[in-house]
Formats: sequence, structure tokens, C-alpha cells
Amino acid sequence: MDYLPLFVDLRKKPVLVVGGGHIAARKIELLTQAGACVQIVACKLCKPLITMTEQKNVEWLAKYYHIQQLERVFLVIAATNNSQLNGQIYQDATNRYLLVNVIDDKPLCSFIFPSIINRTPIIIAISSSGTAPTLARLLREKMEALLPSHLGKMAEIADQWRDKVKERFAIPSDRRHFWDKAFTGIFSSQMAVGKLEEAKRTLNHQLSNINISRGEIILVGVGPGNSGLLTLRGLQVMQLADVLLYDYLVSDEILNLGRRDADRICVGKRAHDHSITQEEINNMLVTLAREGKRVVRLKGGDPFIFGRGGEEIQAAAEAGIPFQVVPGVTASLGATAYAGIPLTHRDYAQSVLFMTGHCHSNGIVPDWETLVHPYQTLVIYMGSIAVTDISRQLIKHGRDPITPVAVISRGTRKDQNVLIGTLRNLPELALYAAAPTLFIIGAVVNLHRHLAWYQATE
Ligand code: SAH
Repeated sequence: MDYLPLFVDLRKKPVLVVGGGHIAARKIELLTQAGACVQIVACKLCKPLITMTEQKNVEWLAKYYHIQQLERVFLVIAATNNSQLNGQIYQDATNRYLLVNVIDDKPLCSFIFPSIINRTPIIIAISSSGTAPTLARLLREKMEALLPSHLGKMAEIADQWRDKVKERFAIPSDRRHFWDKAFTGIFSSQMAVGKLEEAKRTLNHQLSNINISRGEIILVGVGPGNSGLLTLRGLQVMQLADVLLYDYLVSDEILNLGRRDADRICVGKRAHDHSITQEEINNMLVTLAREGKRVVRLKGGDPFIFGRGGEEIQAAAEAGIPFQVVPGVTASLGATAYAGIPLTHRDYAQSVLFMTGHCHSNGIVPDWETLVHPYQTLVIYMGSIAVTDISRQLIKHGRDPITPVAVISRGTRKDQNVLIGTLRNLPELALYAAAPTLFIIGAVVNLHRHLAWYQATE
């Protein structure tokens, strides 16, 4: 280990910064966030530094460096563009056993600044020991994405409960068990959505009934297939799941991002093959949650767009089980973005309408009149089975037979395919498309020729 990470209490401690440019300003900003009293030595200050000197903890001490300035300081930072001066400061500080950092000059640093993830009071520092700062920054970005913003607040509350928990559980392993459960369970979920009072009640409740476990159901919209379109919240929730329930729309790429040791249950449903009914899925969700599990139900696209997500949380509500919903990028938004077809465009479409091709099977007749406006983009989900009728009815009710259509198959995925044709030949196009497919009908489809940007790789 080349460097020992330490978290230093700099509150009210004097720190000397030699240099008045933007790099110095960034460090001074950080130092003042940590409560340090900064003394600057520089001939000239950049604008942000001038503003900072108006704060009470930042003082422009002198124009020129002098060794005496090292007396009674805690840390020294040199950020000048004069390498001789930087070397001198390093030597002087080191001779006095002061910690010193010469910016961007690793051999002249007795301490280095790590990349920081700040969820105060939780602070994570990452360092490559000065070898590859960009790699450390990339790691930081990855971790930033994974660590929910409520982490800090959760730690603050845990601090307030520490004594109570200690009193209730004399054995350390019991205390650990209590906190494990709190930080991965319903307390954490409630904190995530800002239900502070309920979260505190949960802690109190769990403090008196440690054996009572409460499960929950979280619907997560995972988008149309490309894992990059999963939301941060969706990913965080998937990492905390006890059980992951998914169907055929959820790609392997996404499923692989779930918690490794979560149980995975496929409740696949296809148009012709209703191997498991919606009612059975609802019951399964409720039963698993009643066992005290955190059940994460993954749904393609968005749970509330033709996803029966409403019915699943109705079942949860009726059973008195807490639930949450994480929205997702619905197929029409994802697939058209990746096909270079803007759903609205000032010149071609002033409105957009999402429709399911399945309404026939439910005995509902679509209001065709509203579906044929020339300046409206029509997006049809689950259209394959009824495609011949859809094409015929739209033409019959007045939509131009040569209206451009796109059949987007497996949108946003590695094997996305886009077929372009007209409303009249939509049924033939649909015949060749691999599921899942989406139909886009309207003048905006013509833009695909110029705006297609995504390259399928399979
Ligand atoms: N809740 C989902 C829709 C579920 S209905 C959402 O918001 O996207 C299932 C239909 O969605 C499929 O029949 C197909 O029409 C469409 N679909 C889902 N993923 C798709 C994809 N990657 N490419 C094209 N269409 C898709």
C-alpha cells in the first residue's frame, strides 16, 4: 500500500495554499467545504478566488511566498506554475514534517487528493495512488451511479438510533443483524422516497419486533432492452432484491445486473402462450412479499404503459403490502430514438398517440376516427396479430394508404432492425419482423433515412 487513506478533521485548521489560479480555486473550494481556514499566497487571484475571499474562512495572506508562512499551518498546497518555487515549498514543508501536496507533481506530494463520492456523513475516497487518476475518476462515476442519494440521510438517522439499538441488543451480532435489515429493507426503501417519518416508525417497530419481517413489491420498468436505458433507481433497486420476477421482454443483459444471490423467477408471457396468467403473477407477488421478501418485479419498458403494472400494484394494495414503482423508458420512446424517428416534429407531427393492437381481443373497438389525423404519429404496441385489420381500418377511415410506416423490431437491442414501407404494405413488413415489434405510422418515419444513427451489431 503506497498511501494510507485518512479522513482528516480540518475544521478551523489553517491551511496554506500557494497559487491563485483556477486549480488552486478548486482545491480551496474543497478545503472550505471541510471547514478549513485557508490562507492564500499569490501575486494575483483568479475571479472565483476573489469571490471566495469574501467568505470569512478564506484570507489573501500575501503576494509572495516566505518560509515563515509555514509556521502554524496544518497542511500545505502548492499550485503555482513555477516549478522551482513548488520544489522549494515542498522542501521547506517536508523539513518541518508538514504534509504537502504540489498539484500534479506526484514526487513532490506527501499526501494526495483522492476522488470523492460525497454522501455526507458517508464519504468514499478512491485513489489510484497517483498512477491513473482517470481510472480513479471512472470508478468514481460508476460508484456514484450505484450509491443512492439518500445514503447520507440514512447514516444520520442511524446515528440518532445508535444508543437505542445498543440498549436493546447487547450482543454485537444482534445489532449487526438489526442494521443489515434496516439498510437493505423497508426502512431504506422509505428513506429513498423521502418518507422520513414512516422510516423512523419502521425503525421503532423493528426495534420492538425484530422477528416480524415485512416484505414489499417494487415494480421496475427496465426499458426496451438496452441496459444503458435502465434508470439509476432501477439498478439500485435490482441490487437490493431478494427475488427478481421477470418476463420475456426483460433482456439477459439487464437481468445480469440484478443482485447475484437474488432468486430469479421467470413469469414469461407471450401473445399466444399464456403459460402463466396475470392473476397467478399477482398472487405470486403477494405470496413472496408476505414471506418478508423484497420482491422486484422487472417489466419491459415502463410498467404503466401496456404493462399491467397497475393491476399488480392493485393486488399489492389490496393485500396491504407496501409497494413502489420505478418508471422506465417505454418501447416507443426508446425504439424510435434508436431508429432516428422523432415522434413529434414541428413540420410533420403535432401529436403522438400510443395504442395497443390487442384491444380487439378484449372486445373493445378502437375509435378509428381519432387515429387517422395526418399530423399525428401513431405508435402501435402488440400490433403483429391484428396487423392486417389495423392497416385496413386506418385506410378505410381516411388515413392515406401511402403514409410511411416503420416496423421496429427488437428496438435499442444489439439486433435492432427497422423496416420501412407504407400503411398499405404494413402487413407484409410485419411478417418478416422478429418480436417484439412496434409499428410507427406517420410522416415522421421519412426522417429515418437521414437520422438513423444506431448500428445494430448482431
Ligand atoms: N410496458 C412495455 C410494453 C409492453 S407491451 C413498454 O412500456 O414498452 C409489449 C409490446 O411492447 C411488444 O409487443 C412490442 O410492441 C413493444 N416492445 C417492447 N419492447 C420492444 C422493443 N425492444 N422493440 C420494439 N417493440 C417493443
